[in-house]
Amino acid sequence: MNLEKAAATVVVVGSINMDLVAHARRLPAPGETLIGEAFAGTPGGKGGNQAVAAARLGAEVALIGRVGLRQHGQELLAALEQEQVLTHHIVRDEATWPGVAVIMVAKEGGENAIVVVPGSNADLTPGDVEAAAGPLQSAKVVVAQLEVPVPAIQRAFEIAREAGVTTVLNAAPAQTLPPALLALTDWLVVNETEAAQLCGEALDAAALSDELTLAREAARHLRTLGPRHILVTLGGQGAWLLGDSQPDGCHLRATRVTAIDTVGAGDTLVGGLAVGLSEGLDALQAAALGQSAAALAVSRSGVQHAMPYRSELPALAD
Ligand code: ADP
Repeated sequence: MNLEKAAATVVVVGSINMDLVAHARRLPAPGETLIGEAFAGTPGGKGGNQAVAAARLGAEVALIGRVGLRQHGQELLAALEQEQVLTHHIVRDEATWPGVAVIMVAKEGGENAIVVVPGSNADLTPGDVEAAAGPLQSAKVVVAQLEVPVPAIQRAFEIAREAGVTTVLNAAPAQTLPPALLALTDWLVVNETEAAQLCGEALDAAALSDELTLAREAARHLRTLGPRHILVTLGGQGAWLLGDSQPDGCHLRATRVTAIDTVGAGDTLVGGLAVGLSEGLDALQAAALGQSAAALAVSRSGVQHAMPYRSELPALAD
């Protein structure tokens, strides 16, 4: 049951997928078939993941999206409700299939490779988003990723910006973005690959000596496009934060853990960041909350299943 609750402080606009996850000793080379060691079908999608991460970390969360009811749709909705995510503004579509992600995870090192088939996520419209204008206006933070159409995200950010609500764009998977969307973005969160892709020719990635230098240069360029804060995530190396209160940038080291499964690390970080911002934490504290949650998540197997509850985190940002 999805009981009526307090207004959501974090509203996520994003994808809802079924993740089909195969674990093998290593990732296969192109054309190669490997015998895997384990398989699970679990709820995912960057929107669903970030909503669950934020809900587990203590926020009241609503998700805006579209779910096809053919095959896994009802199961996906039930799983979100189980995680206390409000699902009133998810459009149910009898005729379509939900999104599916096929994920391979290497046991050695925890690396992954992913193919996402968007399904009903691709049908989310600006009109669907407008129907949820109330929750967008009363939220503290609105979060989006790029697994749903950009016009829908842009409409959500317009509504949020007009109401003075903080917007967080996790530009993943990377694609060329309209300048108007970046201008409506308060926080841009990208991993180093996405950062380089978004910068395009503005960044000569090959000429940069290391990942941290790349993150620093990419952040500097991306900040000229509109967002007040840029967070470039660097896996086990942590993240680079450039923002109003860190005008020269700042390296946030990752919590040291043994990585078991890094799928969803970025989603956990974004969920934690959003919760921190919704609680009024400053930029460094909110990013630290995201990092600390992400480190715990990578030390466990699974995606949503591995995301920590607030009580599991060190008291740092309580
Ligand atoms: P994505 O999943 O989007 O590629 P990253 O791999 O950069 O994102 O990870 C996001 C965040 O998760 C990092 O900034 C870091 O805080 C945390 N993280 C990822 N891998 C590790 C690791 N091996 N050890 C500790 N923290 C990690």
